[in-house]
Amino acid sequence: MSCNTNQIEELVKKIVAEYNTTGAKTEEYGYGIFDTMDDAVEASAKAQKEYMNHSMADRQKYVEGIREVICDQKNLDYMSKLAVEESGMGCYEHKKIKNKLAAMKSPGIEDLATEAFSGDDGLTLVEYCPFGVIGAIAPTTNPTETIICNSIAMLAGGNTVVFSPHPRSKGVSIWLIKKINAKLEELGAPNNLIVTVKEPSIDNTNIMMKHPKVRMLVATGGPGIVKAVMSTGKKAIGAGAGNPPVVVDETADIKKAAVDIVNGCSFDNNLPCIAEKEIVAVDSIADELIANMKANGAYELKDPAIIEKMVDMVTKDRKKPQVGFVGKSAQYILDKVGIQVGPEVKVILLEAPKDHPFVQIELMMPILPLVRVPNVDEAIDFAVEVEHGNRHTAMMHSKNVDKLTKMAKDIETTIFVKNGPSYAGIGVGGMGYATFTIAGPTGEGLTSAKSFCRKRRCVVQNGGHIR
Ligand code: NAD
Repeated sequence: MSCNTNQIEELVKKIVAEYNTTGAKTEEYGYGIFDTMDDAVEASAKAQKEYMNHSMADRQKYVEGIREVICDQKNLDYMSKLAVEESGMGCYEHKKIKNKLAAMKSPGIEDLATEAFSGDDGLTLVEYCPFGVIGAIAPTTNPTETIICNSIAMLAGGNTVVFSPHPRSKGVSIWLIKKINAKLEELGAPNNLIVTVKEPSIDNTNIMMKHPKVRMLVATGGPGIVKAVMSTGKKAIGAGAGNPPVVVDETADIKKAAVDIVNGCSFDNNLPCIAEKEIVAVDSIADELIANMKANGAYELKDPAIIEKMVDMVTKDRKKPQVGFVGKSAQYILDKVGIQVGPEVKVILLEAPKDHPFVQIELMMPILPLVRVPNVDEAIDFAVEVEHGNRHTAMMHSKNVDKLTKMAKDIETTIFVKNGPSYAGIGVGGMGYATFTIAGPTGEGLTSAKSFCRKRRCVVQNGGHIR
């Protein structure tokens, strides 16, 4: 067969497009990808029935299989790169850390500890059992991380999952779902333990949310989708928006605080919902904090005209972030206002009044406003105010135990990190397991396998106990 130049170009485009969605030379469909949402849900329901006959050891084997797929260096590099390229957000090196974290530190079946009551009247067990088919909606800010940690936790719990990825991350999400399914099939799992549709969209998410065979909904995203799942009448878990403040008082180790804040704020270009979004600093140490941050990767913006230009550029009417700047690097954002810096600049620092849009909006980009306050009590009060009642995440750098306790109590966030970067709260350099679905609004907190299970009681009368 001979081809002219145009035909060859078309052929190359087709192969590249196919590679971008499949990541491997597989057929267009299969491995959990369906044309319609109805087909995807039906396949998931069928798979869940079959899955109920698999052992707990099988479930753990599948969890290990997912970990293997993600930690394969080629896969890890590919999905991290594609997630950044496709969504236009985030930082490749940090995506690799986040994907690996989700794979290695999301708990498996060990999370499902059985409760038992035993005595003269017999034995009663309370076990964590599957809901069935779960509809899981993933954000564009952590597309693969959410699919990884949700897949591990939901499958460990005996459920199957219908994913609704963000349309802006559909290629990488479809690629990942296929990769995971291929591995699960190789390990003897039922087909279609995790599924999605070829064209993820808001319409398809709505069909999924209404489908009678979807028993539980899990939304990881902004306030709109969290409200949507909570209004369905189904069991819903909402992992919503935050605007995490970091308070620094006069007793803090200022140098450590500066380094932690720069690192936490710039992690994946500030995409994580837990990342430092504004500093509230006590006046007496604010200058020292700024100087230390500048020595550790912060660029201080002082010119009011440039700050105004940046507000116009990165926000929509001073109310919402401009999607085109979400998850972009400090270097990129500065360049767009005519300031050229090197990649060593990780955070754009500026002093701002309390009502400034950069302070009030969840920007999800490494622009970090600092608000000065006269004392630690005012710092805590303002941190509570600017967190907007999300009760998501907050940080405090202080050696004053009373004030640390006061802030923890007043702000009521799901995650409160003392004297560390925000990411310590999800297990990076901090104790505890990881998740990228942090359910503040519905109260599950840092979700894990048991969050996606029903508690069921099984009673044996007058027997079963051995004392
Ligand atoms: P987003 O709310 O725009 O989208 C999230 C998902 O919901 C996407 O899949 C999107 O397609 C879908 N969606 C949104 N509105 C919908 C609607 N009306 N009907 C049906 N589907 C809808 O959020 P995003 O920009 O992808 O992610 C960023 C937001 O998510 C931030 O607010 C961030 O704080 C939050 N987030 C929270 C957590 C957490 O664990 N709490 C984790 C990651 C992100």
